[in-house]
Amino acid sequence: MTKQASLTKISSSERPLLLSNNAYRGRFAPSPSGLLHFGSLIAALASFLDAKSFTSSQGQSGKWLVRIEDIDPPREQLGASSAILTTLEAFGLHWDESVLYQSQQSQLYQDTLSDLQQKNLSYNCRCTRAEIKALGGIYQGHCQTLSHSKDNSAIRLKNQYGHYQFNDIFQGSINCNQPLAKEDFIIHRKDGLFAYQLAVVVDDIYQNVNHVIRGCDLLEPTARQLTLLATLNSTTPVYGHVPLAVTTGGYKLSKQNKAPAIDNNSPQPALIAALEFLGQVPDPKLVNEKVDDIIRWAIENWSREKVASVTEISIE
Ligand code: GLU
Ligand code: ZN
Repeated sequence: MTKQASLTKISSSERPLLLSNNAYRGRFAPSPSGLLHFGSLIAALASFLDAKSFTSSQGQSGKWLVRIEDIDPPREQLGASSAILTTLEAFGLHWDESVLYQSQQSQLYQDTLSDLQQKNLSYNCRCTRAEIKALGGIYQGHCQTLSHSKDNSAIRLKNQYGHYQFNDIFQGSINCNQPLAKEDFIIHRKDGLFAYQLAVVVDDIYQNVNHVIRGCDLLEPTARQLTLLATLNSTTPVYGHVPLAVTTGGYKLSKQNKAPAIDNNSPQPALIAALEFLGQVPDPKLVNEKVDDIIRWAIENWSREKVASVTEISIE
């Protein structure tokens, strides 16, 4: 089966069938722009626990997939992909099915772009960032009728839906920034790279993902992803965004600031800290147990309700 055929199949018949079976498919989708830090561990752990604590009507737990989002070579750090996978294993976060690398998915992204273009659902845009900024920062469809050739152009999606509201497992009812959600956004970059929004949605469909659990840094992009899913006639996953770990100044964690170190040789303290960050209440003595025992406790005791419904938590 070609990938294109499978996309068509997934978006028409397969997903509803899967959903009626009540099977859970979640994923963790790191970009290999650096090693895992405490912030990414939280997203990995939350998505893993939400999948593994789920029981379908057939008595099966959810599947947890790992997808390496390596579509931006200039931002990639050499060796980060394999280091991320090594860390996940050291932390007892074992994935089902083989790891999907976005760098291997170009044909499917290209086919999706061609399909959108044929249906007149996209157009080439030559506006620069500075030009859009000068017009107020929101793209107003300037190139929609200009029929630019593809040279030196980005490709934008004709935004027919402008979805901006959704219900989040942890954050409740979410209203995204409407002008941004309604914009004709970029799905293929001027520099020739596929845009994150395109790749993430195509692969969530391709992998039959029906639960997207990730950090609150991706709350706003969800609106655009909902629009793209609708444009591709796909059903919509359930979304859950866990709080972002920030420093007191409100900065996202990075290697420079004081994120608890991710030490593959001693994962227990960071695992316990990540569970506490997610509102779970592990017995402090668990820190002396084996990683697999901590993970087993965490699956058995995972409670969505205990996760704080705030978008950021300071960890200093
Ligand atoms: N690759 C994205 C990131 O690391 C996450 C994509 C997603 O979870 O949707 O920020
Ligand atoms: Zn334009």
